Amino acid sequence: MSIKTLVSSTIVFSVLAGSATMSAQASSSFNSQDDSVTVYSSRKEHLIKPLFEAFTKDTGTKVEYLTGKGGALIERLKLEGANTKADMFMTVDAGNLWYAGSQDLFQSVQTETLKSNIPAYLRDPQGLWTGLSIRARTIVYNTDRVKPEELSTYADLATDKWKGKLCLRTSKKVYTKSLVSSLIYHHGKDKTADIVKGWVDNLAATPNAKDSHVMSAILSGQCDVGLVNTYYFGRLIEKNPTAPLKIFWANQDTTGVHVNVSGAGVTKHASNAKGATQLLEWLSSAKAQAIYGSLNKEYPANQNVASDDVVSAWGSFKQDDMNLSQAGILQADGVKLMQIQGYR
Ligand code: FE
Repeated sequence: MSIKTLVSSTIVFSVLAGSATMSAQASSSFNSQDDSVTVYSSRKEHLIKPLFEAFTKDTGTKVEYLTGKGGALIERLKLEGANTKADMFMTVDAGNLWYAGSQDLFQSVQTETLKSNIPAYLRDPQGLWTGLSIRARTIVYNTDRVKPEELSTYADLATDKWKGKLCLRTSKKVYTKSLVSSLIYHHGKDKTADIVKGWVDNLAATPNAKDSHVMSAILSGQCDVGLVNTYYFGRLIEKNPTAPLKIFWANQDTTGVHVNVSGAGVTKHASNAKGATQLLEWLSSAKAQAIYGSLNKEYPANQNVASDDVVSAWGSFKQDDMNLSQAGILQADGVKLMQIQGYR
């Protein structure tokens, strides 16, 4: 474990959970008795620090935060129970948020502000968590070898015309699990099993560990098409603007593109639930949403806020409006189905 100072006004504590680090802005101790809000976050520091600083500037309330892997933070919250310092838990993917909710780590927060800022399908029906940014998981293709007219749906990637041309991320990743859960929700288990089998039959290579590897494989000619989260595409194009790679909005004539969220909830044992609720509402506000979207090339969850220029340039698209709690509810079925169909 290492203790390091990030900036002069920030104290960073080392903690038990792996490489997690705790930051407290100009605060003398972690468990301060004031009205500060403590956040455990699997979102990286550079994605949350600007938001927390803006919140503190607006409200005067300090935010202390600890970053680490989502799974480790969930285990930590479970172990700490009623003694936790965390008032809020923040992570990516509805599958993870749902899991934290299923472990009784959140309390219900359903305020008029959250309801008016964030559409219902991006919030837990019981108010346990709220989506704060949207990422779309859609088709990416090599523009030298594929014409957009050839593309249509997630299910189409299971047809024979893509034999040996498809690259996919591993089924172990929650992003894949959530996408397959959405297919089960829309098409049922039997049809989804057929789709997943078709994908596996069409694979050009063993599933990749990362979305960035899927795109590298497409660029190297190993495969022609794949599925990625939009912000990974944005990062690659930023570094390599002439790469022959584009995204295609899947399922526009049917169910819409599978979207997922990063989000947060107020912890069950929050000592400052009021402050955490205030922070959650502030994060859903137009001001915070504009910052949130631009930090990681994501889409604002607040539909009244415009996307930033880079993201807007990819064009508008129809989103799948399945309530994202389904990504958790159907996850076990999805995992089983992928195992049976040999999706590694
Ligand atoms: Fe990611």
